Amino acid sequence: STRPLQGKVALVTGASSGIGEATAVALAEAGAAVAIGARRRDRLDALAEWIGSSGARVLTLDLDVTDEQQCRTAVERARSELGGLDVLVNNAGVMLLGTIVGADTEDWRRMLHTNVLGLMYMTSAAIDGMVEQGSGDVVNVSSVAGRTARLGAGVYNASKWAVNAFSESLRQEVTQRGVRIGLVEPGAVATELSSHITQADARQQSQQMAESMRTLDPEDIARAVLYLVTQPPHVAVNEVLVRPTDQQ
Ligand code: NDP
Repeated sequence: STRPLQGKVALVTGASSGIGEATAVALAEAGAAVAIGARRRDRLDALAEWIGSSGARVLTLDLDVTDEQQCRTAVERARSELGGLDVLVNNAGVMLLGTIVGADTEDWRRMLHTNVLGLMYMTSAAIDGMVEQGSGDVVNVSSVAGRTARLGAGVYNASKWAVNAFSESLRQEVTQRGVRIGLVEPGAVATELSSHITQADARQQSQQMAESMRTLDPEDIARAVLYLVTQPPHVAVNEVLVRPTDQQ
């Protein structure tokens, strides 16, 4: 039987853990050839072996999305080595929560470079080709934090707000040329994300919040991504907000 993404090529950023890793697996299971990018090469190699063992085509990419040239090279390699690019999942991100008063502004630069500029560089590298071929999906992983601002999340909120604004403007620009721009907005997902928080109080709060509920698994978000990219060409699911049932 043919699988829904047979013959398609997908590129997932931040595929070395969490949501990106689960999404790469789900896209490969649906039949896509997948390019997986991130900075931790050892994690990518292990994932590539796992995905490849089921017969799927996989390409590992050394990718720091804050480096525009690496973004361009990643897209070029997916096109030349896997034969095209139909689906781009902009998932790479960092969540360095903390108050604005007393913040280390290096956290802000990291979040804005990665979550916003990185996503924009990847989109810039991929979008012309999609418009030329008259089809394609860009799925941007935003967050509940892109819709609801909270004390202690200001700059993360700002980064995801930027993702939502950029996505909606781009959607209006390219949708009538056959390219779909989708947003997936997760609530709390059990991943490594909060382990990188530098403000100790904020890190503890975030981890306590996660322990107080049945969080989502990365696979729950991978299913949402798959839902967007397996619609018939005339159906564009623009936005999906997925919270844990236990999350207020
Ligand atoms: P993880 O920390 O498990 O994954 C983050 C991924 O991003 C890693 O693969 C990491 O790879 C990659 N990454 C970080 N910086 C860069 C960079 N400069 N270049 C390339 N890759 C990078 O967390 P999640 O899976 O939870 O996060 C994925 C996305 O989901 C993020 O955008 C996050 O904001 C979003 N999200 C997560 C939620 C949650 O509760 N977990 C809730 C809402 C949204 P490496 O370090 O190897 O480069």
